[in-house]
Order: sequence, then structure tokens, then C-alpha cells
Amino acid sequence: MATRADKQPPVPAGPIGVTVLGATGSIGRSTLDVIARHPERYRVVALSGHRQVEQLAEQCRRFLPDYAVCPGPEEAERLADLLRAADLSTEVLSGVQGLERVASLPQVEQVMAAIVGAAGLAPALAAARAGKRILLANKEALVMSGQIFIDEVRHGKAELLPIDSEHNAIFQCLPANFAGELAAVGVRRILLTASGGPFRTASREDLARVTPAQACNHPNWSMGRKISVDSATLMNKGLELIEACWLFATGPDVVQVVVHPQSVIHSLVEYVDGSVLAQLGNPDMRTPIAHAMAWPERITSGVGGLDLFDIARLDFEAPDTERFPCLHLAEQAIRRGETAPAILNAANEVAVAAFLDRRLAFDGIPRLIEQTLARVTPHPANRLESIMADDAAAREVAESLLQESQT
Ligand code: NAD
Ligand code: MG
Repeated sequence: MATRADKQPPVPAGPIGVTVLGATGSIGRSTLDVIARHPERYRVVALSGHRQVEQLAEQCRRFLPDYAVCPGPEEAERLADLLRAADLSTEVLSGVQGLERVASLPQVEQVMAAIVGAAGLAPALAAARAGKRILLANKEALVMSGQIFIDEVRHGKAELLPIDSEHNAIFQCLPANFAGELAAVGVRRILLTASGGPFRTASREDLARVTPAQACNHPNWSMGRKISVDSATLMNKGLELIEACWLFATGPDVVQVVVHPQSVIHSLVEYVDGSVLAQLGNPDMRTPIAHAMAWPERITSGVGGLDLFDIARLDFEAPDTERFPCLHLAEQAIRRGETAPAILNAANEVAVAAFLDRRLAFDGIPRLIEQTLARVTPHPANRLESIMADDAAAREVAESLLQESQT
């Protein structure tokens, strides 16, 4: 985690080089929107996309990166054709090696880690080892390999800045001398806000009938499909609880989840003297993105001011872990430790993909995760190999449970 004490405001010789991993996604596009507002301050060095080759080519035409990364040779060839036709000299790379390379190039100072899911882990770790400022949206990477990630950041002298709106809000509410120990700066509790998702008031019967389109229609935020489903099941908050524990070097007892349906307060920090600091803003990810990119300075993000008269009221309630068991499963996983969070994350990725493919009912998601956690034994999480082995084991078990339930 970046600390303010050891940080001087940057005096860039020229524009700051940025790699945007997951450029074609929701966070990636918001990042490019912020960058486009500050051409004198930032330069796009590399972009990555997955299947949306046309969109990636369009982004290359607009931002003229040195490199673009595709998942495999087939997409790389299609992209190279499109770039040649546009007379661009962008070099096309592919695969995990390509992602790791653009995350560690010498001309890159900041890496936006906005690939969704476990696929984002390797390039985020590469950025940590290369000592970059990591703008971390890809919470799954930290959930899977928290200790290793934090250790690599420290060894690589990298900076880790949270993009997740809640964690960015918490970071903004911490004092300048926060150096990794909450108690040392008088923090008593972190209050992690949750919108409650689109089914906050739905009955159990309604939850069983939820469709992918309904689950992806979040009331306050426009996001990718996986995180939208995670928000609807409250697994997103579970992953964020684990993320908060790693980012702020604390345990789940210090982090309280508070449902706040308006998503105006993005999280709060309570101090021992009874003061509670909150960060508020319109629900638009360009605010945390601009904050983390410019920190410790401030730049415009395109997000307008908050109209408190329009908002008028702010509501709070406790999460219902009976209707939304995923939050509880995540909490159990972080308490269990070792590779349990990686197993939880992998089972969740399989469950969400199956739900989006209409192979699993919405209320089957927590059941599948719970059953997978019961069958895969966690191991010490001090080696990446053990984490990846348990990730693979969890995916295999979850897939076979899915198949059993369908036959
Ligand atoms: P998204 O689905 O819109 O975009 C995902 C990006 O990752 C795309 O560029 C896609 O091409 C790429 N990608 C997908 N699979 C890949 C793979 N196997 N290998 C390489 N690249 C791959 O998702 P998003 O909403 O932008 O979320 C991205 C990350 O940020 C997630 O971890 C999410 O939890 C986190 N996040 C998102 C938001 C939000 O508002 N969207 C908020 C907080 C955190
Ligand atoms: Mg969030």
C-alpha cells in the first residue's frame, strides 16, 4: 500500500507512461476517458483486450500506444491487420507473456490492472516486481494471493493504489502518516459500504428466478458482467472484505459491511476519538481512477459535483447474509486463511460463468461455492504454485458439481 510519508509529488520530465490492462472493459474505458482529459500528463504505452479486437484497434487508433496485447495468435493477427490498415506502428503481443511484458516496460510508470478475474493476477504481479504504481481494480488478484502480492509490492518498491471505489474511499479517509498499521494512526473500524445490489429487497422465491439480464442491471453502477453478478449476490462485498484486509493490513473483525443503497458514501473510517470520516461522490469510477493516477495531487475526472439536495437522504442497513450467503462464505474463507480465498474466488468464477450461461440458477451460486469449499482442502498460500494448484482444483470440483446437478 502506498504511504504518503515517503512520497514527493512527482515531477515528470514528460507525460507519465501508462499501461491499461483490460482496456476494452468498463474500468479500462473509464481510465482512457480520464487519460484523454490530460494528454499533457499521461501517455498510453500499452493497451490490452481479450475478445474485442475491433474495439482494441479503435482504442489504438485514438491513443497510439507502443504495444497492444491480445489473448492469442489468432486475435493478434486480426489486430495487426487492422492496425496495418490504419497505418499504425503499434506492436502487437499476445498471451500472458505479452501482458507481463507491457506491465513491466521501463517507459511505463503506472499500470491499470483492470482485467477481470484470476487472469489478471500474473500481469499485476509483474507490475509489482517491476516497481510500478499499480492502480488495482482487479480485486480477484489480491483475494487469491494477498500475502504474495503485498510482499512483491514491498520487494519491488512498487506502489499499490486501490481503484475499487470503497477501498479508494478508505485510502482517502486515512491520515497522511498511515504506514500500514491502522491502530498506530488511531483507526478503530473500517465501514465498508455496499449498495445491496439490484435484489436488496427481493424475496428468496424471487432470487431463485433471477435472470442474467436482471442481475447485470445494477441500480447505481455500470460495470462488467462478472462484477455485476458479484454485486447482486453480495460476493463482490465478500471479495472486497478480503481485499480490505490485505490493503489495510487488518482482519475481518475491524471491517464492518454497511448496506447503503444510494452508493453516495463510498466507505468510512472510524477513529478512536469517535470521529468518522467518509468519502462521498457520484457513483462514477472515473473519480477513484483519477484520484489514484494523480495521487497525491488532484486532477479533473469528468465527474460532476454532488447535488446533496437532489440526493436528500442517505440510508443504512445491515447486510442480510441469509438471503445473500456469499458475504458470509467470503468472511469464513478469510478467517480460514491459506488458499481458502483462492478456492472461494475460483468457485465463484465458475458459478458466475455458469449463471451467465444459464446453466445455474442465481441462488445456486452460493450453494456451488459452499460445496466446492467443503471439498477442496486449502494449503499454505506462501507459493504461487500452491495457489494456482488449488485454484485449478476448485474449478475442476465446481465444474463436476455443476455437471452432476444437471444430470
Ligand atoms: P469488464 O468485463 O468490463 O472488463 C474486463 C476486461 O478484462 C476487458 O478488457 C476484457 O477484454 C479483459 N479480459 C477478460 N478476460 C480476460 C482474460 N482471460 N485475459 C485477459 N484479459 C481478459 O470488467 P470491469 O467491470 O471493467 O472490471 C474489471 C475489474 O475491475 C474486475 O476485477 C472488477 O472486479 C474490478 N472492478 C470493477 C468496477 C467497475 O465499476 N466496473 C469497480 C470496482 C472494481
Ligand atoms: Mg467496489
